[in-house]
Amino acid sequence: MNAALLEVGGLTARYGQITALHSVELSVAPGEAVALVGANGAGKSTLMKCVMGMLAGASGVVRFAGNDLTQRPVSARARIGIGYAPEGRRIFAGLTVHENLLVASPDRDNGRARAQEVYEFFPALQAKSHAMGWSLSGGQQQMLAIGRALMTRPRLLLLDEPSLGLSPLLMNEVLDRVAAISAAGTAVLLAEQNVHKALMVTRRAYVLKLGRVLHHDASDALLRASHLSAAFLGA
Ligand code: ATP
Repeated sequence: MNAALLEVGGLTARYGQITALHSVELSVAPGEAVALVGANGAGKSTLMKCVMGMLAGASGVVRFAGNDLTQRPVSARARIGIGYAPEGRRIFAGLTVHENLLVASPDRDNGRARAQEVYEFFPALQAKSHAMGWSLSGGQQQMLAIGRALMTRPRLLLLDEPSLGLSPLLMNEVLDRVAAISAAGTAVLLAEQNVHKALMVTRRAYVLKLGRVLHHDASDALLRASHLSAAFLGA
């Protein structure tokens, strides 16, 4: 295994009196796809916000490519190579697909080239490049949200529940695209409630329950031990 790209150590996060994460340890290797699975309220979104530096009052260490990011702001974390697609497909409804991509690019010339690369991952977006954000289906909006996070050419992509609210068919399509993104070399940390599919498209997985890492293992091992994963997930 390569040296870790992302290393999270002793991560504890609180919302007032509620402790949402208890001393979580997690790592992602370069180019690796890792699933973060667990029921509602397990702490998946909180962990992603902490990696991105969006939560005041978190403690612990976040290291990326050997750099200590613990005291670094969100902008520095984005610049160093972390992309983030938060839960809920936040796209600009009043801009076209192409404009949505370009506004997420650090510079205009590279933006056009990068948008082409994004379209290669998501041909359905290319076909809709002049369509307004509001006119897209749920699956297309999710693809656009992921595409926007890819515009900075991140080395690590944080994806928070990309399949939320999608039909099983679209959920499969979106998560297959996530697998393609990681196969092309971008590391992915994927928070998902669709455990089976998340385990199919990742190499390793962490099971979170009530803010603690209950278990971590190779995704295929967790898939084989479905009785165990059902127990871990309370399914
Ligand atoms: P979901 O799939 O529902 O988003 P999750 O695994 O992402 O779940 P989090 O959203 O990280 O879980 O929530 C972890 C815990 O922190 C839960 O107990 C939740 O109620 C609490 N929590 C999350 N956000 C807040 C907030 N803004 N204020 C107070 N408590 C919060």
